[in-house]
Formats: sequence, structure tokens, C-alpha cells
Amino acid sequence: MKNICTFAPVFQFKPKPTFMTEKRKIALLGSTGSIGTQALEVVENHSDILQIEVLTAQNNADLLIQQAKKFSPNMVVIGNEALLPYVKEALWNDDIKVFAGPRALEDVVQMDCVDIVLTAIVGVAGLAPVYKAIEAGKTIALANKETLVVAGELMTRAVRENGAAIYPVDSEHSAIFQCLAGEFHNPVSKILLTASGGPFRGKKREELRFVTKDDALRHPNWSMGPKVTIDSATLMNKGLEVIEAKWLFGVPVEKIEVLVHPQSIVHSMVEFEDGSVKAQLGLPDMKLPIQYALTYPQRQPSNFPRLNFTDHGTLTFEQPDRDTFPCLDLAFKASREGGCMPCVMNAANESAVALFLQGRIGFYDIPHIIEEALMHTKFCQPTSVEEYLYIDQMVKQQIERI
Ligand code: NAD
Ligand code: MG
Repeated sequence: MKNICTFAPVFQFKPKPTFMTEKRKIALLGSTGSIGTQALEVVENHSDILQIEVLTAQNNADLLIQQAKKFSPNMVVIGNEALLPYVKEALWNDDIKVFAGPRALEDVVQMDCVDIVLTAIVGVAGLAPVYKAIEAGKTIALANKETLVVAGELMTRAVRENGAAIYPVDSEHSAIFQCLAGEFHNPVSKILLTASGGPFRGKKREELRFVTKDDALRHPNWSMGPKVTIDSATLMNKGLEVIEAKWLFGVPVEKIEVLVHPQSIVHSMVEFEDGSVKAQLGLPDMKLPIQYALTYPQRQPSNFPRLNFTDHGTLTFEQPDRDTFPCLDLAFKASREGGCMPCVMNAANESAVALFLQGRIGFYDIPHIIEEALMHTKFCQPTSVEEYLYIDQMVKQQIERI
């Protein structure tokens, strides 16, 4: 059938069967993190239709072993190769294959026994395994937004060429996806991406100059891993999400508006050409978007707490404070410039956030480092995962040297 869409969301290229006749077999990358552990709760509650085939973690061998004993996957991968003997020994009597290292991650996602790859790794480390999974035509449930930020063009082209699909896990993108269900033939005039504003909403530059990592890690609405929590405090998280939305939904960044919504009840909205606006609402709970990505297009029952409107009588919306939180505009700028620039921005941000978490730099050094990195990079257009990863390494080494 002719594709009549004027935009090209990457999820539409591989429609799922309406009814799940067989269990969906999942490779869960990053099972020990915030998204990973919540995904396992979802799988546990739907063990009749969802099954874990692969579990992976970087360093937390004890939790990985515990998860493996509970979910009996076919395979586990421990990223840190030094921990391989420890994990092997612990799972010696279980019928589970144990591998280690980044190459093993790339291999396991391509196995025939895997239907869905849920990528809950943090940072650019998610890039290579997701690309391999796309090449194998798998369905990706994407939490690792950095994959699309760094290499959105390469990834979305590979999705089309290999008959793969990407379904969003990020709550805002899941909301947009849910608003678009049944509307894939209708052009979008605007995406309204909501942001909680993070722990420092309403503060000015002078008040934030000396904030510590503990202040920044105190998110008002969401409990997440440390990197994404710092990204939320700087608003870089929203910047990354603007670029993620651009690639997922095929909408230019000019049509993506960021709105601060401190209650985190409206997870995002879509405005159509006739002026109608659709929104998806719910309590802040990542299990819902995780479940939707794993069971799409079905909605399965859940025991998640329900939204009671009388408990949330006031929903407010405001413009982001772009002066106090310059990372947001840095992301728009990098995205408009395109090519290697979002990759450079992401690498500089990952380095800066790591340095901030180690207490080695201040809050405003984060945007400063990113801006410097963007300013001192000459435009280029990477064409492979290896080239993106090379640029990522160069930027990180340069920042470490300085
Ligand atoms: P986290 O730090 O809690 O967990 C990260 C996971 O990745 C862990 O299992 C860890 O073992 C694994 N990992 C870390 N480095 C790795 C490496 N080099 N190679 C392989 N595996 C590695 O992170 P999180 O908060 O769960 O976030 C994961 C991703 O999901 C991020 O991209 C984040 O932006 C995105 N996300 C998270 C949330 C949330 O609520 N936590 C919401 C939306 C999107
Ligand atoms: Mg989000």
C-alpha cells in the first residue's frame, strides 16, 4: 500500500500482529538499572505473554545473577570482562549461557530466539548493540535515547532498510506515540514535549552556581539513574528528547515545543493540522511506557496506581527558562547543525556529567564544556557506528586532558 504519511515515524514500518499468539521474547540490555529493574517487574506481571531471553549488566554482577536465577534467561552478558568467572561460577548449575564484553552484547541481540531488544543501557554504549539488533530486523523498545541523539539518521535509515521497528520507552515519546495511534496518515503540526523542570525549576543562575550533585540528584517526580537525573537538572534531558522525537516521529525540531509542566501528569501532546491537540496523561510511572512498548499495539491490564483528577486539580504549563538552563538551546543548535554535532554534544555532556558526579566541576561547567566542544569541532558527516564512536572517544579524551 502506498505510504501516504507526510511524516515518517519509524515505528510504522513493522506493524505488530493484533493478537499475541506466542510469547514475545525479550533481550533486556541494562537489566540492573532503573529502567531494567522496572522492565523486569512488567515481565513478571505478564509472564503469560512476555519472556526474558537475555539479561545484561555492566558491573552489578550480584544483581544480574539474582535476576538470572529468577527469570531463567537463555543467556546473560556481563559487560565488565573481569567479572566473567564470578558470574559463570554462580550460574554453573543453571542452564544459562554466560558471556562477557561489548562484542558479546552485539552478538546476543541478533540471536533468532530474540523478538524484542529493550535497550536500557545508559549513554553511548547503547549504540553498537542497537545497530546490530536493527540490522537483524528486530523490534527495539528504546529507552537509551542517546542512540538516536548521536546517530539518528543512521539508525532510522537502517530501520527502514532492515524491516525493523523502534518503539519508544521514554515517557514523553511513548505519550506522543500513543497520541499518534490511529493518526499515522494525519500530518502533525506541532509536538508539545513536556518537562517537569527538574529540581531547580524557578531558580536563577546566581542561586545555582554552587549546587552540589546531591542537590541535583533530588528529582521532584521521577526516580531514575544518576546520569539522566543530572540531565534533568540541567534540562539537557529535554534537549536530548527533542532530538529523539525528531528522529522517532520524522518532525523537524522547529515543530517541537518544550513546555514545563511541573506536575508530570501530561506526558506530552500532539497538535494536528486542524488545531486539535491530543495528550496522554497518567501518574509518573515508567512501568506504563515500558509495558506499552513491549505489548504494542495491545493494552494489557496493570496494577499501576490510577490517576485521580480530583487529587491533581491544577495542571500548569510554563515556558522553559532558557537563560538559566542553556543546555536546552545547545541541543537545538547541535540538532540544527546536524552531522557530527549532536554526537559531539552528547559526548561532551556525558563527560561533563561524569565529572560533575565526581565533584570535579561545578553545575555551570556542564553547559560551558558542551559549548566549547561544539565551538571547536569542524562539521563532518559520520556514516557508520564506528565513526560516531571514534568522534565520541576523541571528544571525551580531549575533555579529560583539559
Ligand atoms: P541506570 O544507570 O540506572 O542503568 C544503566 C544500565 O546500563 C545498568 O544496568 C548498567 O549495568 C548498564 N550499563 C552501564 N554502562 C554500560 C556499558 N558501558 N555497557 C553496557 N551496559 C552498561 O540508567 P537508567 O536510568 O535506567 O537509564 C537507562 C537509559 O534509559 C538512559 O539512556 C536514560 O536516558 C533512559 N531513560 C531512563 C528513564 C528512567 O526513568 N530511569 C526514563 C527515560 C529514559
Ligand atoms: Mg523522558
